[in-house]
Amino acid sequence: MSKKIVVFLGLLVFGFSLGPWLAQSGFGRKTSFSEALEGLSSVSVHYIDVGQGDSIFIDTPNLDVLIDGGPKLAGPTVLGYLDSLNITQIHLMVATHVHEDHIGGLVAVLNSTTYVDEILINNQTHTSNTYTDFMNLAGSHAITVAQRGQTFVLAEIANLSVFNPLQPLEFSEANDNSVVVKLQAGNTSFLFTGDAEADAEQSMLNAGLDLESDILKVGHHGSTSSTTQLFLDSVAPSYAIISAGEDNPYGHPEQETMEKLLAKGVTVYGTFHSGTVVASTDGTSVVFLHLMFVEKSKLRCWNKKHSDKRKI
Ligand SMILES: [Zn+2]
Repeated sequence: MSKKIVVFLGLLVFGFSLGPWLAQSGFGRKTSFSEALEGLSSVSVHYIDVGQGDSIFIDTPNLDVLIDGGPKLAGPTVLGYLDSLNITQIHLMVATHVHEDHIGGLVAVLNSTTYVDEILINNQTHTSNTYTDFMNLAGSHAITVAQRGQTFVLAEIANLSVFNPLQPLEFSEANDNSVVVKLQAGNTSFLFTGDAEADAEQSMLNAGLDLESDILKVGHHGSTSSTTQLFLDSVAPSYAIISAGEDNPYGHPEQETMEKLLAKGVTVYGTFHSGTVVASTDGTSVVFLHLMFVEKSKLRCWNKKHSDKRKI
């Protein structure tokens, strides 16, 4: 995070200044990106619009994390987005699994001047050129093999716990070996599921993990292969984010998944619908920054019942 000290010292001030900012923006005030960022609380999670794929940037007062980089084509988008945040260093890069729509864009990040400290992988191999490119570049960095039970302390109020996979890997199917991590930021929590499907969800349920999270990054782009009812009931999110490309050929997200989420009263945001979605927390409440909404007056939310700020 740039301006770490400023943000850290001003944590509470910024936390409480978000309400007025949203109120102003709600009335159609044009708000620049940099102005909006001034209002971010101590931890912000950016679900970057990379088309069909995943890329999530976690910005904390201390260590920053990039989970996936979208497909290869989205590499410049991810780099441009990090640049817009003045990010020059990624402390932890998480490659959830070997598929191109997750590690493709990470190749561009590893090829850039962005400094990457450590890379978390699930240790599954693949025959694709993208995987080979990724691993060739990753090889010059510190690599950690993800394993359920690991915890990374990111900041005083933020840590990241690994919920999946087990080592040695439990599944032959790449999606189910996705690195699944939970971010605990104060009293707020975010679950990032990669493309984990029903078998991986069951494994996490069997392990008795504390799955309950305020914000769920929906597994596998909203495919019905993920988000089993038991898993969703255990996570019990207030918000869900689906990262998928507009008019993608896979039909993501599938109607059944949407219906499951909405039936539980979850507010659902989709990158295919809203572009990049940013959630910000001071450890007590979560605020979604409607950057594109402000500038393009686009509906950002499937569920009309949503509120911009909710105590959790
Ligand atoms: Zn995927």
